[in-house]
Amino acid sequence: MSESKCLFCQIAQGRIPADVIHAGDTLVAFRDIAPQAPVHFLVIPKDHVESLDEADPDGRDVLGDALLLARDLARSEGIADGGYRVVVNTGAHGGQTVHHLHVHVLGGRALGWPPG
Ligand code: 5GP
Ligand code: ZN
Repeated sequence: MSESKCLFCQIAQGRIPADVIHAGDTLVAFRDIAPQAPVHFLVIPKDHVESLDEADPDGRDVLGDALLLARDLARSEGIADGGYRVVVNTGAHGGQTVHHLHVHVLGGRALGWPPG
């Protein structure tokens, strides 16, 4: 997938609308279009990375910042006290459908485990 055609690159660049809750220098967060919980948002790097499996160790700061941003937004979205889940679906068996690395954050209800 070329980056100009990548859905999440286009959202990060503001070329496709999304309900953006954070726009920073390296990361963007926006609400999932098909929420699976009362609060469900995605944190993505602005630069295209195909998946966690493709992530370069040089990107460790952005990966770490993505988790800390997920934590901060979980607090500001009001789901931190009840608890929440952070998920990075990776590859076919992981259920990844959009091939731009993204961190799901879900909360606002008790979530089942294990996943199907
Ligand atoms: P994956 O299945 O790859 O882990 O997650 C992709 C997520 O992106 C899904 O939860 C899906 O609902 C969400 N999604 C797909 N297309 C769009 C879109 O155009 N806008 C937004 N906000 N979310 C999307
Ligand atoms: Zn992309």
